[in-house]
Amino acid sequence: MSGRSWRLLDILEDTRRFFASKGLENARLQAELLLAAVLGVKRLDLYLQFERPLHRSEVDRYREYVRQRLRRVPVQYITGVAAFRHLELAVTPAVLIPRPETEVLVDVALELLPAGGRVLDLCCGSGAVALALAQEASAAEVVATDVSAAALEVAKANGQRCGLDGRVEWHCGDLFAPLCGTAPFDLVAANPPYVRRSDLAQLAPEVRDHEPHLSLDGGEDGLAYHRRIAQEAADFIRPGGHLLLEVGDGQSAAVEDLLARSERLTEVQIRPDLNQIPRVVVARTATQTG
Ligand code: GLN
Repeated sequence: MSGRSWRLLDILEDTRRFFASKGLENARLQAELLLAAVLGVKRLDLYLQFERPLHRSEVDRYREYVRQRLRRVPVQYITGVAAFRHLELAVTPAVLIPRPETEVLVDVALELLPAGGRVLDLCCGSGAVALALAQEASAAEVVATDVSAAALEVAKANGQRCGLDGRVEWHCGDLFAPLCGTAPFDLVAANPPYVRRSDLAQLAPEVRDHEPHLSLDGGEDGLAYHRRIAQEAADFIRPGGHLLLEVGDGQSAAVEDLLARSERLTEVQIRPDLNQIPRVVVARTATQTG
């Protein structure tokens, strides 16, 4: 940024070139997102005011955002918000930034959840999945758990922010632990940590250096949580209900196998995300007991 001209259009173009020279992807888009956040406008509204000169204080704030981005802080942590389905969620480094592929987990849950059904979101993080379900399945009874108290604070605040206060019952604890003795669920959905521990060091710096490893580290083979959930789920899902697990690229066959080997789970199937990558593994709880 030269500092000579503080016209909005010039600043965006300067930043695009600067970000691109530093190897940042989607340079122009990222510049627009940061500037829109500084000005408190929607990104596309920037296009209506390209000639607008920026105030000194706006430029200073924008420069601070650009500096953070150069340290590879994800745009969503800089602006403090992330989009997920119809929601705008607050995000802090205490929670994973919701990913577009996780929207598919919600699609599958909406398809399989009976009207007015009882649904659980395990490892809820920012609350993205639980809140999207509360919003889009308005009669559903939604429960969510996360082991991180800091993440749950973000999730609860998101409930208020999205006008869904009181629609989700939040519990702090390890997977199903806070739910012993509660009524069975029609459906359990989870996006648990699934990065193989040895792969953590190779993740993009945005993820590796800024997102919570608690939300990413899936143990030695990445499937430590899937394994535990597969073992415990049938105790918390009614017979004939559904278990939905998000998986990483290349993990679907192993998770399919894991679920298929459980005597209490049946009808295992795999659903792709929008890039045709197998993303959600679905199973039903067996209807006969004993
Ligand atoms: N999808 C995330 C990533 O690519 C990982 C999320 C997870 O572990 N559940 O970094």
